[in-house]
Amino acid sequence: MNLLLLEPEDIVDAGRAIVRGRRLTHVQDVHKAEVGDTLRVGNLNGLLGEARIIRLEKDELELGYEVSQEPPAALPVTVLLALPRPKMLKRTFQTLATMGVKRIVLMNTFRVEKSFWQSPWLKPEAIREQLVLGLEQGRDTVLPEVILEKRFKPFVEDRLPAMSEDMRKLVAHPVGDGECPRAINEPTVLAIGPEGGFIPYEIERLVEYGFECVHLGPRILRVETAVPALLSRLFG
Ligand code: SAM
Repeated sequence: MNLLLLEPEDIVDAGRAIVRGRRLTHVQDVHKAEVGDTLRVGNLNGLLGEARIIRLEKDELELGYEVSQEPPAALPVTVLLALPRPKMLKRTFQTLATMGVKRIVLMNTFRVEKSFWQSPWLKPEAIREQLVLGLEQGRDTVLPEVILEKRFKPFVEDRLPAMSEDMRKLVAHPVGDGECPRAINEPTVLAIGPEGGFIPYEIERLVEYGFECVHLGPRILRVETAVPALLSRLFG
């Protein structure tokens, strides 16, 4: 936790907050902080700053704090992610939030296991928990938006064109036509496939809707590795 993210309900007064639960335990056990120490804090969806520990008890941490810094710039990307298995999904949510992605579309594809859509990790509070962990890691405050698209064809035909208008469109595919470009730093929609990859029909539809099919070389990466590799390469 490189940033203590303050939720609206933590704030008891202007510049004063009380924190309990996981974040308190982390400050006690990992930071081993004491009264008078300073911590990096941020208001959820707001500014960053510093806090001083005023009171530290077994079940409560009281902070006096000031915020004035903007959070880091968001990456100009919408990530379309074929729904991965729950364990991978949790880690990938954290990575996406840490790296500054602000719009994530979880989509169905032929090789996504149907049962993954029933996962408790898709409940809004579970998604939020993973995103907050990612923001704390990356010292960011702005929660990404997450959209669930449970049907590939209606999503690609009806909603994706408006969502991707005036954006570069890339689909990562190990047998893509060209090398994934570097440091493009332009508004982009990036599609990443499921464990078994996209089927030819899905690649054809995406290409039909303006996607370039790109690869990262001959090594096949797990989704959780492909995500940071692609983002680092595209947004250097
Ligand atoms: N056997 C699958 C295939 O050939 O597509 C492997 C799927 S891979 C585990 C999951 C996703 O990560 C892929 O659909 C792709 O989006 C991305 N990916 C993994 N390795 C890649 C590479 N070398 N180039 C481009 N994308 C890659």
